Amino acid sequence: MNIIKCMFCKKPFVSMGGRICPECLEQIDKDFITVRDYIYEHKHSNIDKIAEETEVSKHVILHLLKEGRLIIDGADGGGVLFCESCKKPINTGRMCPACMEKVSNTMNKTVTHEKPAEVKQEQNFKGSAKI
Ligand SMILES: [Zn+2]
Ligand SMILES: [Zn+2]
Repeated sequence: MNIIKCMFCKKPFVSMGGRICPECLEQIDKDFITVRDYIYEHKHSNIDKIAEETEVSKHVILHLLKEGRLIIDGADGGGVLFCESCKKPINTGRMCPACMEKVSNTMNKTVTHEKPAEVKQEQNFKGSAKI
């Protein structure tokens, strides 16, 4: 067991591996539902507006985005999220799809021998569907 400071409320707690205390986790789950419902109804919102209207802190919204639980609409990710590898704007998670692919390719070199072709097909399909 390990006592660390919660990354949100800074209170020390006994960690089982996470960096967030149980109270904050519970609050974040509630905030997630609030924000998710707000985004359903206001598709092209931005993080400042979401924080203002839902009264959920931007810190929590960013955390949810980085966890991939929320996705920001728009190509530039609302200017709040950037790939941790190449610094390109992204809509969700910690890395852009290109860098994610690079990472997963290096991690499962043995399993992904047929994957690049599949991905390419999917992208072509999406591209032609848009036109
Ligand atoms: Zn906490
Ligand atoms: Zn990237």
